[in-house]
Amino acid sequence: MSAPTLRVVHLYPRLMNIYGDRGNIMCLRHRCEARGIGFELTELGIGDRFDSAAADLIFAGGAQDREQRNVVEDLLATKADAVREAVEAAVVLLAVCGAYQLFGRFYREATGMELPGVGIFDLHTEHPGEKAKRLIGNIVAELVGPLPSSGQGGHPPITIVGFENHGGRTYLAPGVRPLAKVRSGHGNNGRDGAEGAVYRNAYGTYIHGSLLPKNPAFADHLIGLALRRRYGDVELARIDNRAEELAHRAALRLRP
Ligand code: GLN
Repeated sequence: MSAPTLRVVHLYPRLMNIYGDRGNIMCLRHRCEARGIGFELTELGIGDRFDSAAADLIFAGGAQDREQRNVVEDLLATKADAVREAVEAAVVLLAVCGAYQLFGRFYREATGMELPGVGIFDLHTEHPGEKAKRLIGNIVAELVGPLPSSGQGGHPPITIVGFENHGGRTYLAPGVRPLAKVRSGHGNNGRDGAEGAVYRNAYGTYIHGSLLPKNPAFADHLIGLALRRRYGDVELARIDNRAEELAHRAALRLRP
């Protein structure tokens, strides 16, 4: 069998890419190419249609309220149905912060305007207004449930680290699985100790930083999920993680 290829679709890379979220794409590319796995990137912006059969992994990053208002109409009109179809077909999705919010039921942003969401995650988000304290800082959280081994000796529980900066407070509907439990930092709303959300192979998170370079086991979990969905049994070879593990440990030391 020729080497597998990971097909990644990056939604709104120019409008939704704050706090280094593009670093997640660079990490996915590196962790594939270092293993001789092909990497194909498609960037989709305003007016571009999304083909649910063309993606193994979908990524969307964070944005300020203004960009979210600029994106949401196009997201719902040209991409939402196909993204929902892809997620129901077990395509992997990673949505960070502003994208995470827009993939819920709705986001009531700082002006009180309610932005309708794609509805992949059964959750909603409310921003208490520009004068409200933002949820900012370093975050350490523990993944809920083990990650199947991703060829990097993945073992439960796995700690994920990064940086968060959001005004919106996200509330999961009863029964929705959070991505992680907050150990230090704010997470979804600074109150219930939940961070992120999981639905099938779709992952939402508030963690910027970028998330994946600082959390190689989680990055490999996503790559492994996406490749196994398309190629069947794929084992990810071990690769040099020293830089990522240094970044992970440095971020752990930053926690308040
Ligand atoms: N604008 C949203 C909020 O303030 C998302 C911010 C972000 O993506 N970092 O909550």
